[in-house]
Amino acid sequence: MANPILVFCEQRDGHLKKAGLEALGQACRLSKAGGRDVVALVVGSSVSPLTQEPASHGASRIVIAEDPALSSYSSELFTTIVADLAAGLKPVAILMGATAMGKDLATKVAARLKSAVIQDCVALEMEADGSLIATRPIYGGKLRAVVKPTNPLMQVVTLRPNIFSLLESKPASDVPIERLAVSFDGTRPMARIRDARATADDKKELTEASIIVSGGRGLKGPDNFILLEELAAALGAAVGASRAVVDAGWRPHRDQIGLTGKTVSPQLYIACGISGAIQHQAGMSSARTIVAINNNPNAPIFKLATYGIVGDLFEIVPLLTEEVKNLRAG
Ligand SMILES: Cc1cc2nc3c(=O)[nH]c(=O)nc-3n(C[C@H](O)[C@H](O)[C@H](O)COP(=O)(O)OP(=O)(O)OC[C@H]3O[C@@H](n4cnc5c(N)ncnc54)[C@H](O)[C@@H]3O)c2cc1C
Repeated sequence: MANPILVFCEQRDGHLKKAGLEALGQACRLSKAGGRDVVALVVGSSVSPLTQEPASHGASRIVIAEDPALSSYSSELFTTIVADLAAGLKPVAILMGATAMGKDLATKVAARLKSAVIQDCVALEMEADGSLIATRPIYGGKLRAVVKPTNPLMQVVTLRPNIFSLLESKPASDVPIERLAVSFDGTRPMARIRDARATADDKKELTEASIIVSGGRGLKGPDNFILLEELAAALGAAVGASRAVVDAGWRPHRDQIGLTGKTVSPQLYIACGISGAIQHQAGMSSARTIVAINNNPNAPIFKLATYGIVGDLFEIVPLLTEEVKNLRAG
């Protein structure tokens, strides 16, 4: 039997992250040519109820690692689990979502296994011998590097969220589930999370949103973001921001998109009053459709935009909101 593909299916608060299921979908597509098994790993303090989703999204086998010590993410403990499993399983590749957790875990697992790591891939193919050919943006998204690890075993890869499609969910009842005997002998976490507090709001997570309405300094002040909130509510979108407005204290840092903020890949990105500096582009250039609203026809964002509206956002955004509401009302 060919070496399998291992997928780390990230969960938080009892929910599997979409990015992990997308990695599972891509693993299943890659496994077809080589007749490989796809093993889904779910780690946490109480993850037994979460096995159905990876099964229905194509996993041929599910491994769970369950222990109270795993209730919140710990680099060292999670690395031990993934690396120990990989050492026995000898997967040709280990895939996970390029989330904050995935990016951290991938580097440490690769270091432990002395294997290659490729972060934030936007395309991934596999050759017959299991060698991966991965495409990843570099230089803030200006170029794309095509990377091939020299050793086609235990290649660790993170996949940018919202790029790879999910497999259609199908009922699956006979997928084997294995429980790992968790042991942390010799693994001493250098840091422990003592308390994690959710923010008071129930905002959509930017990295998972399929539509983002984003605002920059053109909004003139924090109160005017209400215009974007209204458009976002009509579209079912999340609200993002440029660094300039985050630095000004108009929006929290978790809203920042770009080189020093979040990387997003929504289906639709509406940039309002954002100039489109290279550092902003680094976080959103892989959006499928980009709409820019800016009153300066020479703003760099128009070079990137699929559709550009030259005009005053204070006139255009409310009109758009109205139009979307009318369309939705049918
Ligand atoms: C190391 C480093 C890292 C950085 N990381 C990031 C990052 O992660 N994310 C990020 O965003 N930036 C980042 N930056 C900052 C970046 O270089 C820009 O300064 C920033 O993106 C500009 O934000 P902005 O487009 O909102 O503001 P501005 O550049 O001031 O642009 C405002 C835009 O609004 C338009 N406008 C004004 N009024 C209206 C109106 N009424 N209607 C329509 N349009 C209007 C203007 O024409 C202009 O184009 C980084 C910079 C450095 C050096």
